[in-house]
Amino acid sequence: MRVPVVAGNWKMNGSRSTAAELLADIQTGLPAKDKKVEVIVCPPFILVGQVAKALEGSSTAVGGQNIDVHEAGAYTGEIAAGMLLDHGCRYAIVGHSERRTGYGDTDELVAEKAAVASGAGLAPIVCVGETLGEREGGITAQVIDRQVAAVLDRAGIAIFPQAVIAYEPVWAIGTGRTASVAQAQEVHALIRQQLYAADPAVASATRILYGGSVKPDNASALFSSTDIDGGLIGGASLVAADFLAICEAAAG
Ligand code: PEP
Repeated sequence: MRVPVVAGNWKMNGSRSTAAELLADIQTGLPAKDKKVEVIVCPPFILVGQVAKALEGSSTAVGGQNIDVHEAGAYTGEIAAGMLLDHGCRYAIVGHSERRTGYGDTDELVAEKAAVASGAGLAPIVCVGETLGEREGGITAQVIDRQVAAVLDRAGIAIFPQAVIAYEPVWAIGTGRTASVAQAQEVHALIRQQLYAADPAVASATRILYGGSVKPDNASALFSSTDIDGGLIGGASLVAADFLAICEAAAG
């Protein structure tokens, strides 16, 4: 039985005061403890320490939005996995499409980041997804297969099921356009099959999240699909009521 996950990606948003307010609202409205859902918030690096401190003793986990592959040294502007761990993070997003398209994160670099995060003790949330052109060109399956294979080749199946995969069609991120339940389920099933070929038990236990304009009004339908184990939420994670409604939908 996979416990669903809802992870909020705050991206480059928030100040100390808005983060405190958002967290307080989220914490007071979370699903009852007997409901099964794991909640994660991923603030910008500069707010990670504050958020982790505010969440001490709570079941809500904290994640970073990226890591550098090096442990320490002359890498100006970067953050190491060990630093996130030291500040109370349990997760790190790697391979978000905004990093793949805007900051040169290749399949190989994403795979390296997944391996490094896992080796340091952070569970990577590995994002994969096709662009609109790739979907329209009929190569969605090949793109996803290539992105997942890079991670399996470099990091190995052993990083799962602690590691989480997020399927995020690039054309659905921040656009208000969501994949249909059938489109999402089809890709999630492909990803699970790919993991299954490496290790059936691990494949069954690994959480595969959907991300791309998840909102309170589409979350339940998406999450009720066999291979969709929760969501990676961007815009709606900044609105406490919306994020909480999505957490409730995942809790079922
Ligand atoms: C994201 O950035 O991971 C994301 C899914 O964003 P949004 O929910 O805003 O589409």
